[in-house]
Amino acid sequence: MLADPRLAEAAGRLGRRLVKAAVMRAQEQARSGLIAPEHVPDAAAEALPTRATTLRPVINATGVLLHTNLGRAPLSATARDALLAAAGCTDVEFDLETGTRAARGRGVIEALSAAVPAAGAVHVVNNNAAGLVLAATALAAGQEIVVSRGELVEIGDGFRLPDLLTSTGARLREVGTTNRTAVLDYLQAINAQTGFVLKVHPSNFRIEGFTAGASVRDLATALAGRRVPVVADIGSGLLAPDPRLPSEPDADTTLRAGAQLVMASADKLLGGPQAGLLLGDGGLIRSIRRHPLARALRVDKLTLAALEATLSGPPTPTKQALSADPDELMQRAQGLAAHLSAQGIDARAAVSEAAVGGGGAPGLVLVSAAVTLPELFGATLRRGDPAVVGRIEAGRLRLDLRAVPQESDADIAAAVLMAWRDTGGSGESAARDSGESAAWPARRAST
Ligand SMILES: *Cc1c(COP(=O)(O)O)cnc(C)c1O
Repeated sequence: MLADPRLAEAAGRLGRRLVKAAVMRAQEQARSGLIAPEHVPDAAAEALPTRATTLRPVINATGVLLHTNLGRAPLSATARDALLAAAGCTDVEFDLETGTRAARGRGVIEALSAAVPAAGAVHVVNNNAAGLVLAATALAAGQEIVVSRGELVEIGDGFRLPDLLTSTGARLREVGTTNRTAVLDYLQAINAQTGFVLKVHPSNFRIEGFTAGASVRDLATALAGRRVPVVADIGSGLLAPDPRLPSEPDADTTLRAGAQLVMASADKLLGGPQAGLLLGDGGLIRSIRRHPLARALRVDKLTLAALEATLSGPPTPTKQALSADPDELMQRAQGLAAHLSAQGIDARAAVSEAAVGGGGAPGLVLVSAAVTLPELFGATLRRGDPAVVGRIEAGRLRLDLRAVPQESDADIAAAVLMAWRDTGGSGESAARDSGESAAWPARRAST
């Protein structure tokens, strides 16, 4: 079997194990009489995976810009390029000029410091959760973290920041109530046991109505001259203010407001790879960076390369999606719908509503445009390569274009056409004889 040139080539490219698995599956099919024995090589070659990872590329047509289930921010071409360049051996901790050891991540640190002038020093860890764990361990283990009851956030997949913080050996000193917390609440809780005061940005929910909170500036002013630092988890990683996102905090402004330490994710609104950014007071960053746990949370050279390129490169796909013009999105949707309709597919352009997602700006509606299709297309498109993931609304599959780069429109069109052909015009991959799809062949016959 492995003498078949297609399989031999694949064995070199994908590894023997994956090819062997495909061959064995095809042989199984022959044994159970599903295919003729002489078709085993063909069946094996057809069933070969495209690449040696089970992670599949996805076109995010959900209208949720930062979808955690879809890997959050897509990297820019610049960042992908940098990541590839660093994938082999690279000078991550080596000075090629002098031939001696050099500081890891120096390029990122420089780019980050330049982007956030208010930061005295910066450090990069695996993700924002790692930043919180490291800060809590280095600055408050065995001590108390003072935090508002309105900011005890569950970030997703059942992970809760209070549990994360107490797992370090720090104790939480909850103050205020769910809806209202005052500066005085914090001040009354501070004692010799206090490690730091923590502000957490409600990045994935909103509390409305009879509410009040203490801002970073209020707290920093009230704590001026005391040894208790204000630490702010701003969540989504804006480094500077963005006029499109007036309620999202940014690192530079938060530091200027008096926070001694700010932490954020790099793969949300910043649009970079998964990483956690720690920015702030030089002394605090130094004790964080030198803590033994820092080694366990340090980032890979691939992340460093992609993050540096994100910081110094052109606008990220996330930024482009945020600033996309609704009229242009509608033109793209109409173009796609017209193209697909001409093939006989029930495709329509529609006004849509997109959102930033769990990554930030809860409640913000981004006017968008979508191509809608019969709901049955959903599963088939999801199973393609690249997979296309939309959302179901009012009984139609909605492919929202706001998070889709324009160059992927052709891929969407090709995927829909392929789904249409593969399913005999129903768009549906399984249960092809269900009542709902029965109307489809008739339509197709007319085209
Ligand atoms: C997203 C988020 C986190 C978790 O960040 P990760 O980078 O996913 O670890 C923590 N805090 C806030 C406020 C967040 O928005």
